[in-house]
Amino acid sequence: PFSHLVATPAGDRRRQLDRRARVPQAVANELQGAMAEDRIAMLFQPQYCCASGAVAGAEALVRWPHPQRGLIAGDELFRIAMRADLARALSDHVIRRALMLASEWEAGLHLSLNITAADLAAPDFPDAVAAALCASGFAPERLTLEITEQALVHDLDSSAAQLTKLVDLGIRIALDDFGAGFCNFRYLKKLPLHFLKLDRSMVEGIADDRRDLEVLRGIVALAGALDLAVIAEGIESEAQRDAVMREGCFAWQGFLGGKPMPPEEFAQL
Ligand code: C2E
Ligand code: MG
Ligand code: MG
Ligand code: MG
Repeated sequence: PFSHLVATPAGDRRRQLDRRARVPQAVANELQGAMAEDRIAMLFQPQYCCASGAVAGAEALVRWPHPQRGLIAGDELFRIAMRADLARALSDHVIRRALMLASEWEAGLHLSLNITAADLAAPDFPDAVAAALCASGFAPERLTLEITEQALVHDLDSSAAQLTKLVDLGIRIALDDFGAGFCNFRYLKKLPLHFLKLDRSMVEGIADDRRDLEVLRGIVALAGALDLAVIAEGIESEAQRDAVMREGCFAWQGFLGGKPMPPEEFAQL
């Protein structure tokens, strides 16, 4: 009877998700149609290696060009999909499409994909990823899956177990948007991570505010001690890029290096 008094933040968030209304069936049908007709736009944002300055790969980011509602961003699209019980279907679609497109790239390039709470909770998710890798011929070692704190709504041990299955396939895991949310340092210890992806808000001030730079330094040092490589996200100026390169980040991405772009444009780059 007192369970409401000891509810964990994760439990609260899960209940919030459950309470969200289902989207109308018409929207669910539209989304299914968009997937079937391949109308979900796949964009790729380049990521650059800090050591060499070269393009190291790209992060896949999706958009839904909706006839009435305009361009729907990836996070909004996944919120809609979740409320239509299509989050897993959409994720599988995006993963298969992105891997197919990336299998055309030069052999050295890496692909990053964002995943959600629904993926982390689904027992068949590692098999679905393995099947998509197999179908595309893309090597698992070239794939990174990005998770955010919001994806960790289920208990940490089961999330860690699920991620370990993916790591056993050869895939790497990044903790995305680090510094934007509650920034729970326990995640760094509990999850089988390879990359820490710093949120844009963490790099915004590094070129002109000494305290922002010190925070970056501290995180790079902590990451290094835990054998994690740091990827800086949202780099918009040369001064920010120079700072993350100088401070020992592993890679960077941001509008300075290119906005999310269609596959043809990324191939040219
Ligand atoms: P994210 O994974 O953290 O992606 C980074 C977001 O920052 C992208 O927004 C990107 O366009 C934006 N960004 C990158 N560089 C810069 C910069 O220099 N300045 C600024 N102002 N913004 C920058 P986007 O594409 O709107 O995606 C938003 C979020 O939607 C993503 O955050 C991700 O959580 C989610 N998302 C997008 N595509 C997918 C997907 O295929 N699957 C899943 N599960 N989530 C996705
Ligand atoms: Mg991401
Ligand atoms: Mg991010
Ligand atoms: Mg984000």
